[in-house]
Amino acid sequence: MTPHGAWLIDLDGVVWLSGHPIDGSVEAIELLRSHDVPLLFVTNNSAPTTNQLLNRLLRAGIAATANEVVTAAQAAASLIPSSGRAVCIADGGVREALEMRQITIVDEGEADAVVVGWTTTFSYDTLAKAATAVRSGAMFIGTNADPTHPTPDGLMPGTGAIIAAVEVASGTSAVYAGKPGEAMASLVNSRLEAIAMVVGDQIATDGAFADRLGVDFTLVLSGVDKSVPTGVKSADRLSTAVSQWLAAQ
Ligand SMILES: [Mg+2]
Repeated sequence: MTPHGAWLIDLDGVVWLSGHPIDGSVEAIELLRSHDVPLLFVTNNSAPTTNQLLNRLLRAGIAATANEVVTAAQAAASLIPSSGRAVCIADGGVREALEMRQITIVDEGEADAVVVGWTTTFSYDTLAKAATAVRSGAMFIGTNADPTHPTPDGLMPGTGAIIAAVEVASGTSAVYAGKPGEAMASLVNSRLEAIAMVVGDQIATDGAFADRLGVDFTLVLSGVDKSVPTGVKSADRLSTAVSQWLAAQ
């Protein structure tokens, strides 16, 4: 039987870890492609531009197109009216996503939205700029809530930590665009007719995202989460998840 529906594949902790491909992930993608299973790489990483992500995939041995990549940066931009104005506290990926929607990035004056994503150039001045715009009525959008991110030197502050600073300073909670948010779900649904599986390494983001979409979820143990709650389908890594699923079709 021909398998039906697309696979939504998380990147960090599923396809690669600290930039190194996880054993068997490249072959697993090839196997899905050989069965004509549509794929979408869905990441909460808002830092890279689409081309940077495609190049990372290619370096890992995976050829993909821009249509096969969905990021929290794109989800954040999708919440702002096209041709609007936004204060942007974020690096490349968010800036690119805003430009794709003809949204003007402004430093002061009226803004429809404040978007906070991954950045290494956060300061008192950018905090003040973002908080002031939110207090003036701009929609406050965060790309993703991750408080930290793992590096070879240990845990470093994540985007969620930067967003929390703006929340405290503005007295307003952010709307999160990335997984498991509604914006990401809408973006994914607009690209695909049917979804067969969400695969990810974090129940709180990837598992909750599958719940929102109403589709199956497989937790892979090659990333952040190392224990499996009762009732959650799991596999040691992507290649196992793919072969189990194909065998059951
Ligand atoms: Mg992950």
